[in-house]
Amino acid sequence: MPYQHKQQGVEPNTEESAISALPVGKVVCVGRNYAEHAKELNNPVPTEPILFLKPSTAIVSMGQPWGIPGGSGPCHIETEMALLIDKPLTQASESECLAAIVGVGIGYDLTLRQRQSELKEKGHPWEVAKAFDGSCPLSQFIPAEGIDWASVTLQLERNGNLQQDGCSADMITPVAQLLAFISRHFTLLPGDVVLTGTPAGVGPIAVGDRLCASLNAGALQVESVVAAP
Ligand code: ZN
Repeated sequence: MPYQHKQQGVEPNTEESAISALPVGKVVCVGRNYAEHAKELNNPVPTEPILFLKPSTAIVSMGQPWGIPGGSGPCHIETEMALLIDKPLTQASESECLAAIVGVGIGYDLTLRQRQSELKEKGHPWEVAKAFDGSCPLSQFIPAEGIDWASVTLQLERNGNLQQDGCSADMITPVAQLLAFISRHFTLLPGDVVLTGTPAGVGPIAVGDRLCASLNAGALQVESVVAAP
């Protein structure tokens, strides 16, 4: 079943209907938005957000079986807070940006790390390492109303061990500024998703790994088993 912006197994109310009515758009991602993660990859902390895109074809449902590419070296997992947008944003103010977030969820930014390093070394674009089919498993989205963007917690357990444990308070560019910055370069449209960067603890995953991602201490929780390509 193709990914849809909808809740699974929950009685829809008006806000959730608004979420499920949205088309599936592009994904705008930010690199190195947590200082500890930049350090773990020996990257300098950037002075402005580093943006890249994943096409809609990168999106798969985190709650359905999904796999990782074979034969391309290690595939790293980055667990990120995902924002679902429901209004067009171009050159938007921070308050317009906050008013355009309809849902919050979890996204995995899957990365072929070795390929990315090779491409970066050569000064080439890194899309084949970050934007391939299936490179963005997304959870369902829960309504954004009432969420405190400065204190969203995010955790990843891999095979029962806590691997990533972050809080949006540690984002270098917080949510409102990040969306405003994005909207100066790429128009965001209803149904687009923004991945807000990964906390530290990224690492390779393998077929058969059991993953459990959690946002705000289980307000949203998704389990997956990594499948073969
Ligand atoms: Zn990422």
